[in-house]
Amino acid sequence: MSACKRLLYFVKHRSFWTHIRRNVTTWSPVGAAFNAKPARRQDLFEKNVGLFGVPELSCPAGFQAATKAALKNTELLVQNACSCPPGVETVQCFDQLSDGLCKVADLADFIKVAHPDPAFREAAEKTCIDIGTVVEKLNTNVELCKSLKSLLDNPDIVSQLDPDTRRVAELFMFDFEISGIHLDDKLRKEAVALHVNLLDLNNEFLVGSHMPNRIARSSIPEHLHIHFANEGSFIQVGGLHADSPDDLVREIAYRIYLYPNADLMGCLEELLKCRYKLAKLVGYDSYGHRALKGTMAKTPGYCMSLLQLTAKDFKMMRDMKKKLNPCNSIENSCHFHTLLSLFLYIVRYNIEPSLYSPYLSLGACMEGLNNLFSQLYGVSLMSEHPSAGEVWSEDVRKLAVVHEKEGLLGYIYCDFFHRSNKPHQDCHFTIRGGRWCRETDQYQLPVVVLMLSLPHPTKSTPTLLTPGMMENLFHEMGHAMHSMLGRTRYQHVTGTRCATDFAEVPSILMEYFATDYRVISQFAPLVSDCRIFYAALDQIYHSKPQNRSTTEILKEMQQKFYGLPHIPNTAWQLRFSHLIGYGAKYYSYLMSRAVASMVWRQCFVQDPLNRDMGERYRREMLAHGGAKEPMLMVEGMLQRRPTIEDFVDALVSELHPNFETFIMDSES
Ligand SMILES: [Zn+2]
Repeated sequence: MSACKRLLYFVKHRSFWTHIRRNVTTWSPVGAAFNAKPARRQDLFEKNVGLFGVPELSCPAGFQAATKAALKNTELLVQNACSCPPGVETVQCFDQLSDGLCKVADLADFIKVAHPDPAFREAAEKTCIDIGTVVEKLNTNVELCKSLKSLLDNPDIVSQLDPDTRRVAELFMFDFEISGIHLDDKLRKEAVALHVNLLDLNNEFLVGSHMPNRIARSSIPEHLHIHFANEGSFIQVGGLHADSPDDLVREIAYRIYLYPNADLMGCLEELLKCRYKLAKLVGYDSYGHRALKGTMAKTPGYCMSLLQLTAKDFKMMRDMKKKLNPCNSIENSCHFHTLLSLFLYIVRYNIEPSLYSPYLSLGACMEGLNNLFSQLYGVSLMSEHPSAGEVWSEDVRKLAVVHEKEGLLGYIYCDFFHRSNKPHQDCHFTIRGGRWCRETDQYQLPVVVLMLSLPHPTKSTPTLLTPGMMENLFHEMGHAMHSMLGRTRYQHVTGTRCATDFAEVPSILMEYFATDYRVISQFAPLVSDCRIFYAALDQIYHSKPQNRSTTEILKEMQQKFYGLPHIPNTAWQLRFSHLIGYGAKYYSYLMSRAVASMVWRQCFVQDPLNRDMGERYRREMLAHGGAKEPMLMVEGMLQRRPTIEDFVDALVSELHPNFETFIMDSES
């Protein structure tokens, strides 16, 4: 269970239509809102509505009040869930429980990293810890689990549940199971101890994997010292210096930065052992089996076959390409292609040419997105003036997402501009998930934040985006629209709360819309041998114990998947920090990309603004969040079930999208 009930402070929704009418006068065209600095209002008496319109959150102390209210409601809902007769109501109680805790925890999760005021950040951090602790306890609450089990164990009741309710019930059960709830007292205690131990090990590895290594100054040629940070009689190497033009600098950085640290090595081996033990204890063959349950790939076996087949085809394509044309002309002309595709984009969306050249303004990109969404889904982005105290920084823009028939779908807060202390990360945060509220018989509107780190507009020039920035903007907007267009009954499966290897499909698909994919993939191959190698390494590390060191495994996999020999006395795996967050799911990006690529080619490449396809995409994929098995959503969209060969072909075509034309070119 990620978190749990409707909070007391939750503002009741007015009906959609009155809400729209109330705001319509303040909406302004989206492009203009992003190209200009927001007009400052001088209304000192305007009431502070609190962050995201949550009244308690008008000051840092409000977080404590909101937490208290949420926890009080949690108690009530736990009682309800345990006492109501098994049926739909049980699942609804669980979802309300999760919703109430998520609403506070998710909001706090965002504020603790993004608020410019440290007092707000600290208060939010405290809320995260308090709610996190309660969630841990709920996940091992035997009474609560029993109420769900008595529902799922009764075939008569289960057969009467609608598919969404059944899936959500199973997902909640899964959360209990992976926490070891079904074990006897002694073993459950063991599972809890492993969990606690893992939290520490994860943290230790994460911190260690980002620490610089150091070496005595005297052991490096003096003229190279300027490339590295000084630390008394040592120099520090904090990265691979991959973009340095100097070969020697890169080589030194590689050897020092990747030099094995014995403590960290011990930590990684312990961590993998601990994950395996936990997975076995709660009933899985390996940690990989546990992690992949409910994903598209389903099993580590399927995942490894996909990676092996893709790697094999990649190698064949590359060898052929080398034979056909030793000096690759495509790569040299990529810059020209980028500009050409931007030009086509502008023509396609009727964006005034003076707004770009060679970059696009942020406002023009937002207008482009608005056009795209209105043609695909009948949805408009409307700029709305936030109330006093609603946003954490003056430069945050608020967008209402409005459907031509369904009305207001949700809100996107755009925190796009650089600020000191703000993380340099492009990110999508769910602040409030969508769900059907039986209490009010209305849809709880989803609220998300998109965070980018773009330069500010000035009085005379708007913010200009490079093609890379534009692609990131489209990617993050893909996540946001996944949340906005979803209409799930339960918030536990809303929008991006779906299988990890499906979650990136909507955002990657948006990258295809950002510019022509044939061009993008030429200058920045997004699928490469190294991603396949990393994913395979992650799988092996999380399979059954191998009885050899992580470095020996790395060596073998690097040779097999990358075709490059391992350099002695280096241990790249100690820098692979994704092992923590993704554990056995690093392949997810490749899987998502393969699906997005298939959808783009089959459904959108001919006519990217086709409304029927837009509707099908929403109906079959975006609407369901995690409430439907991901492979069924893909099947609905493509109107056939893709085979493993289809996935491989989609990935291979990403590396050499112009392969056919390339052969023709080189033959003529
Ligand atoms: Zn993403």
